[in-house]
Amino acid sequence: MARVYNFSAGPAVLPEPVLAQVRDELLDWHGSGMSVMEMSHRGKEFIDIQHQAETDLRALLGVPSNYKVLFLQGGASLQFSMVPLNLLPVGGHADYVLTGSWAKKAAAEAKRYGTVNVAASSADTNFNRIPTQAELRLDPAAAYVHITGNNTIFGTEYHYTPDTGAVPLVNDASSNILSRPLDVSRFGLIYAGAQKNVGPAGLTLVIVRDDLIGRCREGAPTLLDYAIHAENDSAYNTPPTFAIYVAGLVFKHLLKLGGLPAVEKANIDKAELLYGLLDRSAFYNCPTEPASRSRMNVPFTLTNAELDATFLAEAKKAGLVQLKGHRSVGGMRASIYNAMPLAGVQALVDFMTDFERRYG
Ligand code: PMP
Repeated sequence: MARVYNFSAGPAVLPEPVLAQVRDELLDWHGSGMSVMEMSHRGKEFIDIQHQAETDLRALLGVPSNYKVLFLQGGASLQFSMVPLNLLPVGGHADYVLTGSWAKKAAAEAKRYGTVNVAASSADTNFNRIPTQAELRLDPAAAYVHITGNNTIFGTEYHYTPDTGAVPLVNDASSNILSRPLDVSRFGLIYAGAQKNVGPAGLTLVIVRDDLIGRCREGAPTLLDYAIHAENDSAYNTPPTFAIYVAGLVFKHLLKLGGLPAVEKANIDKAELLYGLLDRSAFYNCPTEPASRSRMNVPFTLTNAELDATFLAEAKKAGLVQLKGHRSVGGMRASIYNAMPLAGVQALVDFMTDFERRYG
């Protein structure tokens, strides 16, 4: 078996020890004689698995006791709807910071339910930066402020938590959750699709402060009401059981590594290695402003775009896959989530150095 270094933006690389454990437990979970896939979500075994996953996630992120952890479905995209349906009163308005395609999609969805004010945008520079606190035009009467903590496509990330005063801050953390410590108490609600740093696609994490639960609009579908999920331990209907199990193994794995401070340190080392090469070289370019650069998604272009296809083909031959950039930025994108080892980034940097030597 030959595993490649997978730089996919998501679904993305998972920790190898977790995959090995899933394999070992696949047919018979802890002597139960069945796979977690085959278990009732109401049975003791699965309820224990889910409780342990929640306990470990709370420990990792230091989730305060006045926040609920929900294991939902529908992806981060359904949160684009659930957030306004639950937090935006009829006739109300919310502030959105536009830092990329996902932020724009979130704002477009909220517009269906109320007024969206653009508190700041980096559209004029093709989303290559994160607005500073001083640039945010925040309305103290807004129902909430929505940010996209890491912009998967454009490769930018907040390195500060906006101060929104008494207005709840909502964070789409899909592509950087668990990559660094986060002070959950600064947020009203954090959501994340699982398929980057958490586990398999199909699971969506929501961490929401108690006082924001129970405000869902009249007439909204039952399944889109946070209160229903909170009251039923995320099992009002069948939750994505297998994805929750794998996520739980990922949480345990991260705790074993030393928790989020250790994970962050490893991510800084990886990011510095790759950005270091991009900044030294005239052959490669990085479109993002240094102060806003993401540690998770690193877009870069070749000065000679005619070499793009050769670069991708040769990289693939070297076992470095899924490096094609998103069409809105062009060039390449290396996603280097938690589970990408330093050796993978080193292999990419070595390949890029050699490619430059041969074609530069
Ligand atoms: N937000 C961000 C930041 C994302 O990266 C993505 C997916 N790549 C989404 C939202 C949409 O997630 P999903 O496909 O889970 O709906």
